[in-house]
Amino acid sequence: MSTATVTAREVHLVRRPQGMPVADDFAIVDRALPEPGDGEVLVANRSFSVDPYMRGRMNDVKSYVPPYALDAPMDGRAVGEVVASNAEGFAEGDLVLANLAWRTHGVAHARTLQKVPDVEGVEPSAYLGVLGAPGLTAWVGLLDIASFVEGDAVFVSGAAGAVGSLVGQLAKLKGASRVIGSAGTAAKTAWLTDELGFDVALNYKDGPIREQLRDAAPDGIDVYFDNVGGDHLEAAIEVANDYARVANCGAIAHYNDTDDDRTPGPDNLFQIVKKRLRLQGFIVTDSLSRFPAFLEEVTPWVAEGRVKHSETVVEGIDQAVEAFRGLLRGENTGKMVVTV
Ligand code: NDP
Repeated sequence: MSTATVTAREVHLVRRPQGMPVADDFAIVDRALPEPGDGEVLVANRSFSVDPYMRGRMNDVKSYVPPYALDAPMDGRAVGEVVASNAEGFAEGDLVLANLAWRTHGVAHARTLQKVPDVEGVEPSAYLGVLGAPGLTAWVGLLDIASFVEGDAVFVSGAAGAVGSLVGQLAKLKGASRVIGSAGTAAKTAWLTDELGFDVALNYKDGPIREQLRDAAPDGIDVYFDNVGGDHLEAAIEVANDYARVANCGAIAHYNDTDDDRTPGPDNLFQIVKKRLRLQGFIVTDSLSRFPAFLEEVTPWVAEGRVKHSETVVEGIDQAVEAFRGLLRGENTGKMVVTV
C-alpha cells in the first residue's frame, strides 16, 4: 500500500514554557510522512496520553528523561491502528501501543511497538492508564517502594487522578485499615468515597490540608503516596506514625514553579528523623520488569470491575495543548486522554 500521501498533524514544542504552558509555546504542524522503511510500521493514532511528567520534559534541564526538542513532535504513549506495515509480525488493522503521542499518525520501528492485549472487558485505552504506566506506577509505588502491608493506614494525594485512583483501590483490596485521599473538587472527593471505596476524601481547596488530614487520621498514617509535594507532603509528615513509609512519586504542586515563584516545601523535615520515617523517590521506568506481575494481578480486577477507572477524553489533536493545560489545572478525573 502506498502511504506517500499520508499527512500527519503534529503538535510541536516551539518555546520552553515559563510557568503554566500557554498556546504560543506550541505549534500545530502538518507534515507528509515517509513510507515505512524496512522493519517500520505506519500507525494512525486513536488516542494518546498527556501526562504531568511531560511538563518537566518541556524544560531544558538534565533529568531522568531527555528534554523535548524544539520544533519536533513530543513523544508519549499512544494507542493506534497499523495502516501500513513493512515489519514482520504487524499487519494492517493491528492495534498497537507506541511512543507516538501528540500527532495523528507516525512511523515507528516495530521494536518500539507492542500489540494491545485483547482482553474481554478491557478497552484499548486502559493501556494508557490503569493498565499502563500510571497503573504500574501506583502498584510499584505502593507495594515495592512504600512496602505496604495489610492493616496499614494509607494517605494518597492526587487521589482522583490516573495514578492516585488506583493507589487507593489497591490499598483497599489488599486490606488497608483506612484509605484517605485528597483531590481538588467536590465531585472528585464524592467519586473517591462513593464509587472507589475510599474511607475519607479531602478537598484540599476547602482549607489547609495539614488541618484536614490531622482530623481525618486520628490514629496517624503508615503509608503516604505523594503525587503533589509541598503542603501535602508536609501534612503527611505531620500525621505519620513512627516508621511510616513515603513513596515520593511526583510533586505536581511544583511543576510550574519558576525561579521567581516557588511553591514552599515542608517546614517539618526534622520529624523524619524523630519518627524514623522512610521517604523514597522512584521512577517507574526502573521497574519495567514488574510489568508482567502487575498485569497478571490487576488485569482481572479491571476486567471484572473490581478496580474502577475513569477517563477524561478531549477530542481532537487541535485540542491537545488545552487537554495538557487542563490536566495541570485538575480538569481530569482519572486518566486524561486525547482522541484523534
Ligand atoms: P493525574 O491524573 O493525577 O493528573 C494530575 C492531577 O494533579 C490533576 O488532575 C489535579 O487534580 C492535580 N493537581 C494539579 N495541581 C495540583 C496542586 N497544586 N496541588 C494538588 N494537586 C494538583 O496525573 P497522573 O496520575 O498521571 O500523575 C500523578 C503524579 O504521579 C504526578 O505528580 C506525576 O508526575 C507522577 N508520576 C510519577 C511517575 C514516576 O515514575 N515517579 C510516573 C507517573 C506519574 P486536583 O483536581 O485533585 O487538583
